[in-house]
Amino acid sequence: MQTNVLGYPRIGSNRELKKANEAYWAGKISLEKLQMTARQLRRQNWETLKSAGIDLIPSNDFSFYDQVLDMCLMTGTIPARFRSLMETQASVSSPELYFAMARGYQKNGFDITAMEMTKWFDTNYHYLVPEFDTTQQYSLLYNKCLEEFKEALSLGIHTKPVLIGPISFLLLGKVKDEQLQVADLLDKLLPVYIQLLQSLQQAGATWVQIDEPTLVLDLTPAQQSLFQYAYNKIRAAVPSLKIILTTYFGGLQDNTELTLKLPVDALHIDLVRAPEQLDAILAALPANITLSVGVVNGRNIWKNNYEQALQLIKKATAVLGEERVLIATSCSLLHSPYDLDLETDEAVLTPQIKNWMAFAKQKVRELTDLQQIAAGNTAALAANTAAMKERSTAAIIHKPAVKARLAALTAADAERKSAFPARQKAQEAVLKLPLFPTTTIGSFPQTEDIRKLRADFKKGVITPAAYETSIRKAIQESVALQESLRIDVLVHGEFERNDMVEYFGEQLEGFVFTKNGWVQSYGSRCVKPPVIYGDVQRNAPMTVEWSSYAQSLTSKPMKGMLTGPVTILQWSFVRDDQPRADTTLQIALAIRDEVVDLEQAGIRVIQVDEPAIREGLPLRQADWQAYLDWAVKAFRVSVSGVEDATQIHTHMCYSEFNDIISNIAAMDADVITIETSRSQMELLEVFSVFKYPYEIGPGVYDIHSPRVPTVAEMTELLEKAIQLLPARNIWVNPDCGLKTRKWPETEQSLRNMVAAAQNMRVAV
Ligand code: GLN
Ligand code: ZN
Repeated sequence: MQTNVLGYPRIGSNRELKKANEAYWAGKISLEKLQMTARQLRRQNWETLKSAGIDLIPSNDFSFYDQVLDMCLMTGTIPARFRSLMETQASVSSPELYFAMARGYQKNGFDITAMEMTKWFDTNYHYLVPEFDTTQQYSLLYNKCLEEFKEALSLGIHTKPVLIGPISFLLLGKVKDEQLQVADLLDKLLPVYIQLLQSLQQAGATWVQIDEPTLVLDLTPAQQSLFQYAYNKIRAAVPSLKIILTTYFGGLQDNTELTLKLPVDALHIDLVRAPEQLDAILAALPANITLSVGVVNGRNIWKNNYEQALQLIKKATAVLGEERVLIATSCSLLHSPYDLDLETDEAVLTPQIKNWMAFAKQKVRELTDLQQIAAGNTAALAANTAAMKERSTAAIIHKPAVKARLAALTAADAERKSAFPARQKAQEAVLKLPLFPTTTIGSFPQTEDIRKLRADFKKGVITPAAYETSIRKAIQESVALQESLRIDVLVHGEFERNDMVEYFGEQLEGFVFTKNGWVQSYGSRCVKPPVIYGDVQRNAPMTVEWSSYAQSLTSKPMKGMLTGPVTILQWSFVRDDQPRADTTLQIALAIRDEVVDLEQAGIRVIQVDEPAIREGLPLRQADWQAYLDWAVKAFRVSVSGVEDATQIHTHMCYSEFNDIISNIAAMDADVITIETSRSQMELLEVFSVFKYPYEIGPGVYDIHSPRVPTVAEMTELLEKAIQLLPARNIWVNPDCGLKTRKWPETEQSLRNMVAAAQNMRVAV
């Protein structure tokens, strides 16, 4: 049985790629230096995999920025707006064009916007969205894939080149011109793919991995029919190249039959996300096809459970025989941090917890362990079984009180005392807000000083008392400013928060943080998600002191500011030993305690942010309802412990609610604030059609740009809003938090925003 790695993290053990890229962009290092760093990283990865004994080692999984962007350049899928840049400034293989497409280009009289970026399936990785237009001429402009195959070969390593398949490349992109048909585009792209594959065949490649992850999505019959067509053509053109068709992030389900008909040599399936598909595939896999079983999770940080993985492997070998089974990672290891061995600080990550974990390098070892064990050499099994057993009962994970509380949850815990109309009256009586009340979303500018203050406190350079004094001063200033601007519902400014999830994770039991557990989010941006390893519990109030201090400075309502349970879950590495819904509800109960404590401390308006609800939607429509049910329940549990007169807000920084509006309404939040300014309020229509009964703050200005919006334009947006929804229910606020802005523009923008609200009060 052979081992197969679908892809390896490219950022380097110390984020070398991030640093080199950013230094290059800043003009601090030469192109040669950047390329040297890249070569070193590729070499390191190949050698790591080779010395670990991996049989199918990926190449072309490296990318300076993004593998989909690489595919665009390889195939000539260059958006029209970059054409003039190509003609005058930059050749196709030059980093100038490449980085311009990724990041935009504002130089030498050009002002070209970057390509759009979006989430890669349900991961936190973002890819650049290919744009297909009528002006494009597809051709093999530059053969990165071949170059990297040869580069590995020159180091004595025979690799398996990795490509994004033609159908997924097309379906993940945007067709810009209406007259363009996907089927025609495929006809134009296929010759380029074929030329590329032929060049690999010629250079001596044996296996090539073609990723078609769109096979785990809901496809239309027209989309389904593209696969057979494309792969027949490819097969005919490269008869002796062995193709592994890879699918991941879900099961093939209704795409199984068509997939099994494709003329390929091996099929990869994700048995971590969809173990149930194994039976159906084993029953129908044609005799000439090898099966790559993805049993080692490429997307989390947990040690593989060898006994469970071996059951799947044995099931496969019993039907197919050992020669026809590859033991593989479920997907590329791009989504895992680099190397657990680098976590040496036992104060940060205790040896006990560390022993339950595996990063990319350790996951590679898991593949060869499984290979050995399956072959009868069971040396590695005992330690793994012991770790699994210890984890299943460890007291730091399993807290009877938390489990009991979760088990005792009733429907009533997810219900406010009264229905919204009664609450609205009670809140009106207490809060006495004007029509078109003004507020902000929570954070104020995070200046250099504020960042330094937090960093110094973390390092122990300043005392807790000094830290507190400085944060209080920042709060004071922000309150004074908001009062002078005549904002109605104030915020404290979130100066004490580094990140809206980390801040809570650091204070909750059941979370742990790593020193170096970085994962690429996009380009040079990496994130270090918290790890939820055990039952979640709140030991002490987390925000009450700051909020009540802020409230003590003003007679206006001060809004308490919390992150919601779904968002905390979504932006963390989540434990794999219980359903996500249970973990979310545990977090919800912890947030509920905080909400109640805020109320007790005299906070009458509390916002629970849930910007990640939408991105948690499952890949398949059929799974949406179940997810939305528990996500909405978790939110309701977190906010339902308060009196009618306490006003609950939520915030989401997107506005596509068309398909989930009834679930958003089911959250039963008294006020929702959303992003709408860039769509000119058009996206508010769905709320209108739905007759959304709650109060709503459609963002009146875009916080992504330093531009100061005028009073007139915000007034105009509000006028549109009251065409769609009752004026009584409209709040006035920016699209999102202001932490990335500077103070001068923030002050000016808010001044104009309040003036727009005042205009509206006069007008209605
Ligand atoms: N309260 C947070 C802030 O203002 C919300 C951030 C977000 O929506 N992503 O920063
Ligand atoms: Zn937001």
